[in-house]
Amino acid sequence: MSKSRAKKTEQQNTNFHKVEIPSHGEFENHIQYEKRIYDLEQLLDIARSFCQNLDFSNLLESIVYICMAQMHVLGAEIFVRDLITNESFILETGKIFSDDHKITIPVKSPITTTLLELKKPVTPDELECEVGDCQYLEEIKKLNPTLIVPLIQKKHLNGILILQERLTFEENQVYTEYEQQQIMGIAALAAVAINNAVLIEMSSTDMMTHLKLKYYFFNLLTQAIDSAFLNNQNIAVLMFDIDFFKNFNDTYGHECGDMVLIDVAEIIKNSLREADIASRYGGEEFTVLLYDTGKKEAMIVSERIRSAIEKHDFLYNNQHLHVTISCGVSVFDAEKNLVNSPNEFVNQADQALYISKNEGRNKVTYFEPKKKK
Ligand code: GH3
Ligand code: MG
Ligand code: MG
Repeated sequence: MSKSRAKKTEQQNTNFHKVEIPSHGEFENHIQYEKRIYDLEQLLDIARSFCQNLDFSNLLESIVYICMAQMHVLGAEIFVRDLITNESFILETGKIFSDDHKITIPVKSPITTTLLELKKPVTPDELECEVGDCQYLEEIKKLNPTLIVPLIQKKHLNGILILQERLTFEENQVYTEYEQQQIMGIAALAAVAINNAVLIEMSSTDMMTHLKLKYYFFNLLTQAIDSAFLNNQNIAVLMFDIDFFKNFNDTYGHECGDMVLIDVAEIIKNSLREADIASRYGGEEFTVLLYDTGKKEAMIVSERIRSAIEKHDFLYNNQHLHVTISCGVSVFDAEKNLVNSPNEFVNQADQALYISKNEGRNKVTYFEPKKKK
């Protein structure tokens, strides 16, 4: 090798060494940047997922699962402002507590005020230092929290997220500064998503019976018809109307009538599967959408509801009162009854309901589609 060539190679080797072997610190930095980019990408995915999820209970479930996966915890729970009274935060996700023992925290309590002031996650001990002896903290402690995270949007506390036991091999379950920042990023997205879902929930729900309103029902029915057509499935629409309700109001008063409407709505809702939709269609009329359901099952469900209402003891001011309901049923079937619009579908159920009324009320009638020639 010539002298000049040997010198060049030596120089190249020196350069090679300089570029290729990063110092320990540089290496650490690189890994941290990679992790940061990965976490930011995850945050984008989470934002996307929250934006697409407008159904209130689905959204809460999705927030719980995302927090569990991101923060490596065995469970998470969420308190959300009571949609109706706006007076307290209710534990919406706590499946281990029955409806009559739902944990609630008043909107104006030391806990909520402190969380709003601190604007950051706190451990139960840190929260105790701030609020002292507080019955609501004792309620929260029943959930075995490791971190309590405020869900804040525009200076409003929309909810409280509770992270439970951590999946860690270390004895102390301390969250690092970075992890706390990460959960606050997710909490900020969750707070906005909860606010949007609450607005949709409120504007699509009848505040008296807590059933869906007519236009929202039509919206879901449109999607259900498309999906039933594509998947060659049956779906059913039931239409209910309380019998002689004007007379009932005139006899017992409007307030008593309202109580009956609330109870009837609850009976209908409790007779359905989680996925089925019940709506308050108008004054004393209710519609139901049953997914993946043919004539036989639709008639069984309608009859179950009719009979439950007939037997129900409506108690008002120590009076035991009774009402009956009539029903019409229509079933979408791509071959036998290919309805084209939600209007047509509901009209068919309404025609069957009309027959129930004419034939003496307290009755269920099936809409017989015309046979194809
Ligand atoms: P039918 O058996 O033919 O259905 O008789 P009906 O008296 O129930 O029918 P109609 O449509 O004449 O009367 C419906 C009544 O429902 C009239 C109205 O007073 C009552 N109603 C509608 N909305 C409400 C409500 O929000 N609260 C109360 N208490 N009553 C309502
Ligand atoms: Mg009516
Ligand atoms: Mg009526």
